[in-house]
Amino acid sequence: MNKKEKKYFLELLNKKKERVFKNLGYLREGIGTSEKGIPTHIADYGTDEFGKGLGIDISDEEAKILKNINISIDKIEKNTYGICEECSKKISITRLKALPYARYCIKCQREKEKGGK
Ligand SMILES: [Zn+2]
Repeated sequence: MNKKEKKYFLELLNKKKERVFKNLGYLREGIGTSEKGIPTHIADYGTDEFGKGLGIDISDEEAKILKNINISIDKIEKNTYGICEECSKKISITRLKALPYARYCIKCQREKEKGGK
């Protein structure tokens, strides 16, 4: 992975991170200020993004994503970004663009999902 690509993914990861933080802040605010469960200012953010999530435990999922983002940023610094943690093969750029915090190649990810979480 060249310098330009590294910079690109670092920016992508930082943007994702920012977004997760915003979501978390939003949720805390939402829970704190709304007694009916659904904050009125949800319209400002668009229901597509948050509507589905309101019923599930987002914080666990977000925490997991944040952890993976931090690991990925660390990997960029250590020059191991884009390499599957399981089989040490390169993760495809297409996959990384869709999921910049992916830690495994598609093959290993599938194996993991098959094995039960
Ligand atoms: Zn792999």
